[in-house]
Amino acid sequence: MVDIPTPSLFYDGKPQTSSSTQTFQSIDPSTALPLTTITTSTPTDIDAAIASAARAFPTWSSTPAPSRARILLHAASLLRSRTPFLATLETLDTGKAYSETSAIDVATGADALEYFAHLVASSGLSGEATPLRPDAWVYTAKAPLGVCAALGAWNYPLQIALWKAAAGLAAGNTLVYKPSEVTPLHSSVLAALFAEAGLPPGVFNVVQGGGETGAYLAAHPGIAKVSFTGQVATGRKVAAAAGAGLKYVTMELGGKSALVVLADAEVEQAVDGAMMANFYSSGQVCTNGTRVFVPRRMKEAFEAALLRKMRFIRPGDLMDPATNFGPLVSRVHHEKVVGYIRHGIEVDRATLLHGGLGKLDLPDGVAEELKSGFWVRPTVFTDCTDDMRIVKEEIFGPVMSILTYDTVEEVVRRANDTTLGLAAGVFTKDLNLAHKVIAQLEAGITWINTWGESPAEMSVGGWKMSGVGVENGRRGIEAWVRNKSTLVDMAGEVATVFSKL
Ligand code: NDP
Repeated sequence: MVDIPTPSLFYDGKPQTSSSTQTFQSIDPSTALPLTTITTSTPTDIDAAIASAARAFPTWSSTPAPSRARILLHAASLLRSRTPFLATLETLDTGKAYSETSAIDVATGADALEYFAHLVASSGLSGEATPLRPDAWVYTAKAPLGVCAALGAWNYPLQIALWKAAAGLAAGNTLVYKPSEVTPLHSSVLAALFAEAGLPPGVFNVVQGGGETGAYLAAHPGIAKVSFTGQVATGRKVAAAAGAGLKYVTMELGGKSALVVLADAEVEQAVDGAMMANFYSSGQVCTNGTRVFVPRRMKEAFEAALLRKMRFIRPGDLMDPATNFGPLVSRVHHEKVVGYIRHGIEVDRATLLHGGLGKLDLPDGVAEELKSGFWVRPTVFTDCTDDMRIVKEEIFGPVMSILTYDTVEEVVRRANDTTLGLAAGVFTKDLNLAHKVIAQLEAGITWINTWGESPAEMSVGGWKMSGVGVENGRRGIEAWVRNKSTLVDMAGEVATVFSKL
Protein backbone atom coordinates (compact mmCIF):
# COMPACT_ATOMS: atom_id res chain seq x y z
CA MET A 1 0.00 0.00 0.00
CA VAL A 2 1.18 3.61 0.46
CA ASP A 3 2.44 5.71 3.36
CA ILE A 4 -0.59 7.63 4.53
CA PRO A 5 0.19 11.34 4.88
CA THR A 6 -1.36 13.22 7.79
CA PRO A 7 -3.38 16.10 6.37
CA SER A 8 -2.46 19.43 7.92
CA LEU A 9 -3.11 23.11 7.92
CA PHE A 10 -1.20 24.56 4.94
CA TYR A 11 -0.41 28.19 4.15
CA ASP A 12 2.57 30.36 3.13
CA GLY A 13 3.58 27.47 0.85
CA LYS A 14 4.15 24.91 3.59
CA PRO A 15 2.44 22.73 6.21
CA GLN A 16 1.75 24.61 9.45
CA THR A 17 1.12 23.48 13.00
CA SER A 18 -2.42 24.11 14.15
CA SER A 19 -2.94 26.10 17.34
CA SER A 20 -5.62 23.60 18.41
CA THR A 21 -5.41 20.35 20.36
CA GLN A 22 -8.76 19.17 18.98
CA THR A 23 -8.48 16.29 16.50
CA PHE A 24 -10.62 14.07 14.27
CA GLN A 25 -9.95 10.81 12.45
CA SER A 26 -10.01 9.73 8.86
CA ILE A 27 -11.58 6.26 8.64
CA ASP A 28 -11.17 3.57 5.97
CA PRO A 29 -14.79 2.92 4.89
CA SER A 30 -14.01 -0.60 3.70
CA THR A 31 -12.86 -1.76 7.17
CA ALA A 32 -14.09 0.96 9.57
CA LEU A 33 -10.47 1.20 10.83
CA PRO A 34 -8.79 4.58 11.46
CA LEU A 35 -6.28 5.76 8.86
CA THR A 36 -4.86 8.87 10.51
CA THR A 37 -5.61 11.67 12.99
CA ILE A 38 -5.97 15.28 11.87
CA THR A 39 -5.82 18.43 13.98
CA THR A 40 -8.69 20.88 13.54
CA SER A 41 -7.85 24.42 12.41
CA THR A 42 -8.86 27.16 14.85
CA PRO A 43 -10.21 30.60 13.88
CA THR A 44 -6.67 31.94 14.45
CA ASP A 45 -5.31 29.34 12.00
CA ILE A 46 -8.00 30.17 9.45
CA ASP A 47 -7.29 33.91 9.80
CA ALA A 48 -3.61 33.15 9.13
CA ALA A 49 -4.47 31.11 6.01
CA ILE A 50 -6.72 33.92 4.71
CA ALA A 51 -3.99 36.50 5.45
CA SER A 52 -1.50 34.36 3.51
CA ALA A 53 -3.91 34.22 0.55
CA ALA A 54 -4.46 37.99 0.75
CA ARG A 55 -0.68 38.66 0.68
CA ALA A 56 -0.30 36.41 -2.37
CA PHE A 57 -3.22 37.93 -4.31
CA PRO A 58 -1.64 41.14 -5.75
CA THR A 59 1.26 39.27 -7.34
CA TRP A 60 -0.69 36.19 -8.47
CA SER A 61 -3.55 38.22 -9.96
CA SER A 62 -1.12 40.39 -11.93
CA THR A 63 0.98 37.45 -13.14
CA PRO A 64 0.35 37.17 -16.91
CA ALA A 65 -2.21 34.46 -17.69
CA PRO A 66 0.24 32.36 -19.78
CA SER A 67 2.63 32.24 -16.79
CA ARG A 68 -0.16 31.18 -14.43
CA ALA A 69 -1.16 28.58 -17.03
CA ARG A 70 2.38 27.15 -17.18
CA ILE A 71 2.32 26.43 -13.44
CA LEU A 72 -1.13 24.81 -13.61
CA LEU A 73 -0.01 22.64 -16.55
CA HIS A 74 3.03 21.55 -14.55
CA ALA A 75 0.72 20.62 -11.65
CA ALA A 76 -1.49 18.61 -14.05
CA SER A 77 1.49 16.67 -15.29
CA LEU A 78 2.65 15.94 -11.70
CA LEU A 79 -0.88 14.74 -10.87
CA ARG A 80 -0.97 12.39 -13.85
CA SER A 81 2.46 10.97 -13.10
CA ARG A 82 1.41 10.29 -9.48
CA THR A 83 -1.96 8.72 -10.30
CA PRO A 84 -1.26 5.39 -8.53
CA PHE A 85 -0.42 7.14 -5.23
CA LEU A 86 -3.21 9.73 -5.40
CA ALA A 87 -5.84 7.20 -6.52
CA THR A 88 -4.83 4.89 -3.67
CA LEU A 89 -5.30 7.75 -1.18
CA GLU A 90 -8.75 8.47 -2.63
CA THR A 91 -9.67 4.80 -2.43
CA LEU A 92 -8.57 4.58 1.21
CA ASP A 93 -10.40 7.78 2.12
CA THR A 94 -13.66 7.39 0.16
CA GLY A 95 -14.03 3.61 -0.14
CA LYS A 96 -14.35 3.85 -3.91
CA ALA A 97 -12.73 1.06 -5.92
CA TYR A 98 -9.24 1.77 -7.26
CA SER A 99 -10.56 0.86 -10.73
CA GLU A 100 -12.63 4.09 -10.44
CA THR A 101 -10.28 6.46 -8.65
CA SER A 102 -7.35 5.60 -10.95
CA ALA A 103 -9.43 6.02 -14.12
CA ILE A 104 -11.57 9.02 -13.21
CA ASP A 105 -10.83 10.97 -10.03
CA VAL A 106 -7.24 12.04 -10.67
CA ALA A 107 -7.61 12.34 -14.45
CA THR A 108 -10.72 14.55 -14.38
CA GLY A 109 -8.99 16.86 -11.89
CA ALA A 110 -5.92 17.14 -14.13
CA ASP A 111 -8.20 17.64 -17.16
CA ALA A 112 -9.74 20.71 -15.48
CA LEU A 113 -6.31 22.21 -14.75
CA GLU A 114 -5.31 21.74 -18.38
CA TYR A 115 -8.63 23.06 -19.70
CA PHE A 116 -8.56 26.30 -17.68
CA ALA A 117 -4.82 26.81 -18.17
CA HIS A 118 -5.31 26.69 -21.95
CA LEU A 119 -8.48 28.78 -21.74
CA VAL A 120 -6.92 31.71 -19.87
CA ALA A 121 -3.69 31.53 -21.87
CA SER A 122 -5.67 31.78 -25.10
CA SER A 123 -8.01 34.71 -24.43
CA GLY A 124 -10.43 33.18 -21.94
CA LEU A 125 -10.10 36.30 -19.79
CA SER A 126 -10.44 38.83 -22.56
CA GLY A 127 -13.34 41.28 -22.58
CA GLU A 128 -15.36 42.95 -25.31
CA ALA A 129 -15.21 46.25 -27.16
CA THR A 130 -18.49 47.83 -28.26
CA PRO A 131 -18.50 50.90 -30.54
CA LEU A 132 -20.99 53.57 -29.41
CA ARG A 133 -20.34 56.48 -31.78
CA PRO A 134 -17.45 57.30 -34.13
CA ASP A 135 -15.55 58.87 -31.24
CA ALA A 136 -16.64 56.71 -28.29
CA TRP A 137 -16.67 53.08 -27.31
CA VAL A 138 -17.08 50.80 -24.28
CA TYR A 139 -14.60 48.11 -23.40
CA THR A 140 -14.87 45.49 -20.68
CA ALA A 141 -12.27 43.66 -18.65
CA LYS A 142 -12.49 40.66 -16.32
CA ALA A 143 -10.81 40.94 -12.95
CA PRO A 144 -10.28 38.15 -10.39
CA LEU A 145 -12.34 38.40 -7.21
CA GLY A 146 -9.68 38.10 -4.51
CA VAL A 147 -9.35 35.49 -1.76
CA CYS A 148 -11.96 32.77 -2.33
CA ALA A 149 -13.13 29.91 -0.12
CA ALA A 150 -13.57 26.42 -1.60
CA LEU A 151 -15.69 23.99 0.46
CA GLY A 152 -15.72 20.39 -0.72
CA ALA A 153 -17.98 17.35 -0.33
CA TRP A 154 -16.66 13.86 0.42
CA ASN A 155 -17.71 11.97 -2.70
CA TYR A 156 -15.07 13.25 -5.16
CA PRO A 157 -12.60 14.98 -2.82
CA LEU A 158 -9.61 15.48 -5.13
CA GLN A 159 -11.73 16.15 -8.21
CA ILE A 160 -13.86 18.75 -6.41
CA ALA A 161 -10.74 20.50 -5.03
CA LEU A 162 -9.22 20.59 -8.51
CA TRP A 163 -12.34 21.74 -10.34
CA LYS A 164 -12.48 24.73 -7.98
CA ALA A 165 -8.73 25.36 -7.98
CA ALA A 166 -8.38 25.03 -11.77
CA ALA A 167 -10.83 27.80 -12.66
CA GLY A 168 -10.23 29.89 -9.53
CA LEU A 169 -6.44 29.99 -9.80
CA ALA A 170 -6.38 30.29 -13.60
CA ALA A 171 -8.54 33.42 -13.26
CA GLY A 172 -6.00 34.92 -10.81
CA ASN A 173 -7.71 34.34 -7.46
CA THR A 174 -6.08 32.86 -4.38
CA LEU A 175 -7.88 30.08 -2.48
CA VAL A 176 -8.46 28.75 1.01
CA TYR A 177 -9.72 25.18 0.64
CA LYS A 178 -11.53 23.13 3.27
CA PRO A 179 -11.97 19.44 2.46
CA SER A 180 -14.75 17.45 4.10
CA GLU A 181 -13.52 16.13 7.44
CA VAL A 182 -14.72 12.72 6.20
CA THR A 183 -12.16 12.69 3.35
CA PRO A 184 -9.19 14.99 4.05
CA LEU A 185 -6.25 12.77 2.90
CA HIS A 186 -5.71 14.46 -0.48
CA SER A 187 -5.75 18.04 0.80
CA SER A 188 -2.25 18.94 1.93
CA VAL A 189 -0.76 16.48 -0.58
CA LEU A 190 -2.42 18.58 -3.27
CA ALA A 191 -1.16 21.83 -1.71
CA ALA A 192 2.41 20.46 -1.64
CA LEU A 193 2.10 19.30 -5.25
CA PHE A 194 0.98 22.79 -6.30
CA ALA A 195 3.99 24.26 -4.47
CA GLU A 196 6.30 21.80 -6.25
CA ALA A 197 4.74 22.85 -9.58
CA GLY A 198 5.79 26.44 -8.85
CA LEU A 199 2.64 27.94 -7.35
CA PRO A 200 3.79 30.86 -5.17
CA PRO A 201 3.27 30.59 -1.38
CA GLY A 202 -0.21 31.64 -0.27
CA VAL A 203 -1.97 31.02 -3.58
CA PHE A 204 -3.50 27.67 -2.51
CA ASN A 205 -4.05 27.13 1.21
CA VAL A 206 -5.77 24.41 3.22
CA VAL A 207 -7.64 24.47 6.53
CA GLN A 208 -8.97 21.38 8.31
CA GLY A 209 -12.16 20.72 10.21
CA GLY A 210 -15.89 20.17 9.99
CA GLY A 211 -18.94 22.38 9.55
CA GLU A 212 -17.73 25.04 12.00
CA THR A 213 -14.56 25.55 9.97
CA GLY A 214 -16.63 25.90 6.79
CA ALA A 215 -19.07 28.28 8.47
CA TYR A 216 -16.22 30.48 9.74
CA LEU A 217 -14.79 30.72 6.22
CA ALA A 218 -18.16 31.43 4.58
CA ALA A 219 -18.84 34.36 6.93
CA HIS A 220 -15.28 35.77 6.98
CA PRO A 221 -14.99 39.38 5.76
CA GLY A 222 -11.68 38.56 4.03
CA ILE A 223 -13.39 36.10 1.66
CA ALA A 224 -14.72 37.47 -1.65
CA LYS A 225 -16.44 34.32 -2.92
CA VAL A 226 -17.58 30.94 -1.61
CA SER A 227 -17.55 27.99 -3.97
CA PHE A 228 -19.49 25.22 -2.25
CA THR A 229 -20.24 21.59 -3.13
CA GLY A 230 -22.51 19.67 -0.76
CA GLN A 231 -26.05 19.10 0.43
CA VAL A 232 -28.94 21.46 -0.24
CA ALA A 233 -29.51 22.03 3.50
CA THR A 234 -25.88 23.02 4.07
CA GLY A 235 -25.82 25.06 0.87
CA ARG A 236 -28.71 27.18 2.12
CA LYS A 237 -26.80 27.99 5.32
CA VAL A 238 -23.58 28.73 3.44
CA ALA A 239 -25.35 30.91 0.87
CA ALA A 240 -27.11 32.81 3.67
CA ALA A 241 -23.81 33.45 5.48
CA ALA A 242 -22.14 34.51 2.24
CA GLY A 243 -25.17 36.62 1.32
CA ALA A 244 -24.90 38.56 4.56
CA GLY A 245 -21.49 39.75 3.36
CA LEU A 246 -22.71 40.10 -0.28
CA LYS A 247 -20.07 37.60 -1.41
CA TYR A 248 -20.15 35.85 -4.75
CA VAL A 249 -21.29 32.21 -4.50
CA THR A 250 -21.32 29.05 -6.54
CA MET A 251 -23.55 26.31 -5.11
CA GLU A 252 -23.18 22.76 -6.46
CA LEU A 253 -25.87 20.90 -4.52
CA GLY A 254 -27.84 17.67 -4.41
CA GLY A 255 -30.29 16.14 -6.86
CA LYS A 256 -33.02 13.57 -7.42
CA SER A 257 -32.61 13.25 -11.13
CA ALA A 258 -34.95 11.61 -13.62
CA LEU A 259 -33.70 9.09 -16.16
CA VAL A 260 -36.39 8.75 -18.82
CA VAL A 261 -36.45 5.63 -20.98
CA LEU A 262 -38.59 6.40 -24.05
CA ALA A 263 -40.76 3.73 -25.69
CA ASP A 264 -38.43 3.02 -28.64
CA ALA A 265 -35.23 2.82 -26.54
CA GLU A 266 -32.79 -0.06 -26.80
CA VAL A 267 -33.54 -1.91 -23.55
CA GLU A 268 -29.98 -3.14 -22.95
CA GLN A 269 -28.55 0.35 -23.49
CA ALA A 270 -31.12 1.93 -21.16
CA VAL A 271 -30.37 -0.64 -18.46
CA ASP A 272 -26.63 0.03 -18.77
CA GLY A 273 -27.36 3.75 -18.38
CA ALA A 274 -29.61 3.18 -15.37
CA MET A 275 -26.94 1.03 -13.71
CA MET A 276 -24.26 3.69 -14.22
CA ALA A 277 -26.74 6.27 -12.91
CA ASN A 278 -27.36 4.33 -9.70
CA PHE A 279 -24.47 2.06 -8.78
CA TYR A 280 -21.30 3.84 -9.96
CA SER A 281 -19.39 5.07 -6.86
CA SER A 282 -21.95 3.01 -4.92
CA GLY A 283 -24.56 5.60 -5.80
CA GLN A 284 -22.67 8.48 -4.15
CA VAL A 285 -22.79 10.75 -7.20
CA CYS A 286 -24.71 14.04 -7.14
CA THR A 287 -26.09 13.58 -10.66
CA ASN A 288 -27.48 10.09 -10.01
CA GLY A 289 -30.57 9.23 -12.06
CA THR A 290 -32.38 7.55 -9.20
CA ARG A 291 -35.91 8.02 -10.58
CA VAL A 292 -35.91 5.64 -13.53
CA PHE A 293 -39.06 6.19 -15.65
CA VAL A 294 -39.84 3.18 -17.88
CA PRO A 295 -42.79 2.86 -20.32
CA ARG A 296 -45.39 0.55 -18.77
CA ARG A 297 -45.10 -1.89 -21.71
CA MET A 298 -41.32 -2.12 -21.34
CA LYS A 299 -41.30 -2.75 -17.57
CA GLU A 300 -40.99 -6.53 -17.72
CA ALA A 301 -38.18 -6.54 -20.31
CA PHE A 302 -36.35 -3.72 -18.52
CA GLU A 303 -36.46 -5.46 -15.13
CA ALA A 304 -35.40 -8.82 -16.61
CA ALA A 305 -32.36 -7.23 -18.28
CA LEU A 306 -31.55 -5.28 -15.13
CA LEU A 307 -31.65 -8.37 -12.90
CA ARG A 308 -29.41 -10.19 -15.38
CA LYS A 309 -26.85 -7.38 -15.21
CA MET A 310 -26.94 -6.85 -11.43
CA ARG A 311 -24.57 -9.79 -11.10
CA PHE A 312 -21.88 -7.72 -12.85
CA ILE A 313 -21.68 -5.55 -9.70
CA ARG A 314 -18.54 -6.80 -7.99
CA PRO A 315 -17.80 -5.73 -4.39
CA GLY A 316 -14.53 -6.87 -2.81
CA ASP A 317 -10.94 -5.84 -2.18
CA LEU A 318 -10.92 -2.21 -3.37
CA MET A 319 -7.44 -2.50 -4.89
CA ASP A 320 -8.43 -5.52 -7.01
CA PRO A 321 -8.82 -4.21 -10.59
CA ALA A 322 -11.97 -6.35 -10.99
CA THR A 323 -13.79 -4.69 -8.06
CA ASN A 324 -16.34 -2.09 -9.24
CA PHE A 325 -18.44 -1.54 -6.09
CA GLY A 326 -17.25 -0.20 -2.73
CA PRO A 327 -18.75 0.53 0.68
CA LEU A 328 -20.46 3.79 1.64
CA VAL A 329 -18.20 6.56 2.87
CA SER A 330 -18.95 6.57 6.61
CA ARG A 331 -20.93 4.95 9.40
CA VAL A 332 -23.27 7.96 9.56
CA HIS A 333 -23.96 7.79 5.84
CA HIS A 334 -24.41 4.01 5.99
CA GLU A 335 -27.09 4.45 8.67
CA LYS A 336 -28.83 7.07 6.55
CA VAL A 337 -28.92 4.92 3.39
CA VAL A 338 -30.00 1.78 5.28
CA GLY A 339 -32.74 3.90 6.88
CA TYR A 340 -34.05 4.83 3.41
CA ILE A 341 -34.00 1.19 2.27
CA ARG A 342 -35.95 0.20 5.41
CA HIS A 343 -38.41 3.02 4.78
CA GLY A 344 -38.86 1.88 1.17
CA ILE A 345 -39.74 -1.64 2.32
CA GLU A 346 -41.73 -0.95 5.49
CA VAL A 347 -43.41 2.42 5.00
CA ASP A 348 -43.43 3.24 1.26
CA ARG A 349 -44.14 -0.45 0.54
CA ALA A 350 -42.41 -0.39 -2.84
CA THR A 351 -41.69 -3.79 -4.38
CA LEU A 352 -38.13 -4.87 -3.58
CA LEU A 353 -36.73 -6.26 -6.84
CA HIS A 354 -33.12 -6.68 -5.72
CA GLY A 355 -30.92 -6.15 -2.65
CA GLY A 356 -32.50 -4.63 0.45
CA LEU A 357 -31.49 -4.91 4.09
CA GLY A 358 -28.99 -7.45 5.39
CA LYS A 359 -25.32 -8.02 4.82
CA LEU A 360 -23.79 -7.68 1.39
CA ASP A 361 -22.12 -10.91 0.26
CA LEU A 362 -18.41 -10.27 -0.18
CA PRO A 363 -16.47 -12.76 -2.33
CA ASP A 364 -14.77 -15.71 -0.63
CA GLY A 365 -11.18 -15.08 0.40
CA VAL A 366 -11.39 -11.31 1.03
CA ALA A 367 -9.56 -10.04 4.13
CA GLU A 368 -11.56 -10.59 7.34
CA GLU A 369 -11.48 -6.86 8.30
CA LEU A 370 -13.45 -5.95 5.14
CA LYS A 371 -16.48 -7.52 6.78
CA SER A 372 -16.64 -4.58 9.23
CA GLY A 373 -16.84 -1.94 6.47
CA PHE A 374 -19.82 0.26 5.61
CA TRP A 375 -21.15 -1.98 2.85
CA VAL A 376 -24.72 -1.92 1.67
CA ARG A 377 -26.50 -4.11 -0.87
CA PRO A 378 -27.15 -2.55 -4.30
CA THR A 379 -30.91 -2.16 -4.18
CA VAL A 380 -33.70 -1.82 -6.75
CA PHE A 381 -37.28 -0.89 -5.88
CA THR A 382 -40.05 -1.16 -8.45
CA ASP A 383 -43.76 -0.30 -8.66
CA CYS A 384 -42.72 3.01 -7.11
CA THR A 385 -45.01 6.04 -6.99
CA ASP A 386 -44.12 9.72 -7.02
CA ASP A 387 -45.26 10.32 -3.44
CA MET A 388 -42.90 7.74 -1.85
CA ARG A 389 -40.11 9.15 0.32
CA ILE A 390 -37.50 7.03 -1.47
CA VAL A 391 -38.64 8.65 -4.74
CA LYS A 392 -38.75 12.22 -3.43
CA GLU A 393 -35.59 12.58 -1.31
CA GLU A 394 -31.92 12.31 -2.23
CA ILE A 395 -30.60 9.03 -0.76
CA PHE A 396 -27.04 9.29 -2.14
CA GLY A 397 -26.54 5.54 -2.12
CA PRO A 398 -27.01 2.55 -4.45
CA VAL A 399 -30.82 2.62 -4.43
CA MET A 400 -32.77 2.71 -7.72
CA SER A 401 -36.50 3.44 -7.98
CA ILE A 402 -38.37 2.24 -11.07
CA LEU A 403 -41.54 4.13 -12.03
CA THR A 404 -43.79 3.40 -15.00
CA TYR A 405 -45.57 5.89 -17.28
CA ASP A 406 -47.87 5.93 -20.31
CA THR A 407 -47.29 9.14 -22.30
CA VAL A 408 -44.36 11.47 -23.00
CA GLU A 409 -46.36 14.44 -21.72
CA GLU A 410 -46.99 12.60 -18.45
CA VAL A 411 -43.37 11.58 -17.92
CA VAL A 412 -42.08 15.11 -18.53
CA ARG A 413 -44.56 16.52 -15.99
CA ARG A 414 -43.64 13.91 -13.37
CA ALA A 415 -39.89 14.18 -13.99
CA ASN A 416 -40.14 17.93 -13.33
CA ASP A 417 -42.32 17.53 -10.23
CA THR A 418 -39.48 18.12 -7.75
CA THR A 419 -37.83 21.09 -6.11
CA LEU A 420 -34.46 19.78 -7.34
CA GLY A 421 -33.07 20.14 -10.85
CA LEU A 422 -29.50 18.88 -11.06
CA ALA A 423 -29.49 16.33 -13.92
CA ALA A 424 -31.81 14.48 -16.28
CA GLY A 425 -31.51 12.27 -19.33
CA VAL A 426 -33.35 10.32 -22.00
CA PHE A 427 -32.71 7.04 -23.77
CA THR A 428 -34.25 6.73 -27.24
CA LYS A 429 -33.45 6.06 -30.90
CA ASP A 430 -35.66 9.01 -31.93
CA LEU A 431 -33.30 11.96 -31.80
CA ASN A 432 -35.99 14.53 -32.65
CA LEU A 433 -38.00 13.37 -29.68
CA ALA A 434 -34.86 13.26 -27.51
CA HIS A 435 -34.19 16.96 -28.09
CA LYS A 436 -37.85 17.87 -27.57
CA VAL A 437 -37.95 16.06 -24.23
CA ILE A 438 -34.57 17.39 -23.09
CA ALA A 439 -35.77 20.94 -23.85
CA GLN A 440 -38.67 20.43 -21.44
CA LEU A 441 -36.74 18.83 -18.56
CA GLU A 442 -35.95 21.25 -15.74
CA ALA A 443 -32.32 20.39 -15.02
CA GLY A 444 -28.94 21.98 -15.61
CA ILE A 445 -27.04 18.85 -16.68
CA THR A 446 -28.66 16.58 -19.27
CA TRP A 447 -27.64 13.55 -21.30
CA ILE A 448 -28.99 11.74 -24.35
CA ASN A 449 -28.27 7.99 -24.56
CA THR A 450 -25.56 8.10 -21.91
CA TRP A 451 -25.22 9.01 -18.25
CA GLY A 452 -22.68 10.57 -15.92
CA GLU A 453 -19.80 11.76 -18.11
CA SER A 454 -18.83 15.28 -17.07
CA PRO A 455 -15.74 16.46 -18.96
CA ALA A 456 -13.94 19.74 -18.22
CA GLU A 457 -15.42 21.21 -21.42
CA MET A 458 -18.99 20.80 -20.08
CA SER A 459 -20.42 23.53 -17.83
CA VAL A 460 -22.29 21.84 -14.99
CA GLY A 461 -24.62 23.28 -12.39
CA GLY A 462 -28.06 22.63 -10.99
CA TRP A 463 -31.40 24.37 -11.55
CA LYS A 464 -33.95 25.08 -8.84
CA MET A 465 -32.74 24.00 -5.36
CA SER A 466 -29.82 22.06 -6.88
CA GLY A 467 -27.55 25.02 -7.21
CA VAL A 468 -26.46 28.46 -8.27
CA GLY A 469 -23.96 29.00 -11.10
CA VAL A 470 -21.81 26.50 -12.97
CA GLU A 471 -18.41 24.88 -12.83
CA ASN A 472 -16.25 23.95 -15.83
CA GLY A 473 -16.61 24.78 -19.51
CA ARG A 474 -16.12 28.28 -20.91
CA ARG A 475 -18.84 29.62 -18.60
CA GLY A 476 -17.01 28.13 -15.59
CA ILE A 477 -14.39 30.90 -15.64
CA GLU A 478 -17.09 33.58 -15.35
CA ALA A 479 -17.85 32.42 -11.82
CA TRP A 480 -14.36 33.50 -10.72
CA VAL A 481 -14.14 37.01 -12.21
CA ARG A 482 -15.94 40.31 -12.00
CA ASN A 483 -16.57 42.71 -14.80
CA LYS A 484 -15.21 46.20 -15.33
CA SER A 485 -16.77 48.36 -18.06
CA THR A 486 -15.00 51.48 -19.29
CA LEU A 487 -16.56 54.13 -21.54
CA VAL A 488 -13.96 55.98 -23.59
CA ASP A 489 -14.92 59.33 -25.17
CA MET A 490 -12.48 60.93 -27.64
CA ALA A 491 -14.67 63.90 -28.64
CA GLY A 492 -12.38 66.27 -26.80
CA GLU A 493 -15.17 67.80 -24.72
CA VAL A 494 -17.13 66.48 -21.81
CA ALA A 495 -20.83 66.25 -22.66
CA THR A 496 -22.20 68.58 -19.98
CA VAL A 497 -25.44 70.35 -19.15
CA PHE A 498 -23.58 72.84 -16.96
CA SER A 499 -21.88 74.97 -19.61
CA LYS A 500 -24.62 77.66 -20.14
CA LEU A 501 -27.04 79.65 -17.99
P1 NDP B 1 -22.34 18.53 3.22
O1 NDP B 1 -23.28 19.61 2.85
O2 NDP B 1 -22.59 17.78 4.46
O3 NDP B 1 -20.84 19.09 3.34
C1 NDP B 1 -20.20 19.81 2.30
C2 NDP B 1 -19.05 20.62 2.88
O4 NDP B 1 -19.57 21.66 3.71
C3 NDP B 1 -18.14 19.80 3.79
O5 NDP B 1 -16.82 20.27 3.67
C4 NDP B 1 -18.71 20.10 5.16
O6 NDP B 1 -17.81 19.85 6.19
C5 NDP B 1 -19.02 21.56 5.02
N1 NDP B 1 -20.01 22.08 5.97
C6 NDP B 1 -20.87 21.41 6.76
N2 NDP B 1 -21.64 22.28 7.47
C7 NDP B 1 -21.24 23.53 7.11
C8 NDP B 1 -21.66 24.85 7.45
N3 NDP B 1 -22.64 25.08 8.32
N4 NDP B 1 -21.03 25.90 6.88
C9 NDP B 1 -20.06 25.71 5.96
N5 NDP B 1 -19.61 24.47 5.58
C10 NDP B 1 -20.21 23.40 6.14
O7 NDP B 1 -22.29 17.58 1.94
P2 NDP B 1 -21.68 16.10 1.88
O8 NDP B 1 -20.23 16.19 2.17
O9 NDP B 1 -22.55 15.19 2.63
O10 NDP B 1 -21.78 15.78 0.33
C11 NDP B 1 -22.84 15.11 -0.26
C12 NDP B 1 -23.76 16.09 -0.95
O11 NDP B 1 -23.03 16.83 -1.92
C13 NDP B 1 -24.89 15.43 -1.70
O12 NDP B 1 -26.09 16.10 -1.46
C14 NDP B 1 -24.48 15.59 -3.16
O13 NDP B 1 -25.58 15.59 -4.04
C15 NDP B 1 -23.76 16.90 -3.13
N6 NDP B 1 -22.84 17.02 -4.26
C16 NDP B 1 -23.15 17.89 -5.27
C17 NDP B 1 -22.33 17.99 -6.39
C18 NDP B 1 -22.67 18.91 -7.51
O14 NDP B 1 -21.80 19.16 -8.35
N7 NDP B 1 -23.87 19.44 -7.60
C19 NDP B 1 -21.12 17.17 -6.52
C20 NDP B 1 -20.87 16.32 -5.38
C21 NDP B 1 -21.71 16.25 -4.29
P3 NDP B 1 -17.71 18.39 6.88
O15 NDP B 1 -17.95 17.36 5.82
O16 NDP B 1 -16.35 18.36 7.39
O17 NDP B 1 -18.78 18.37 7.89
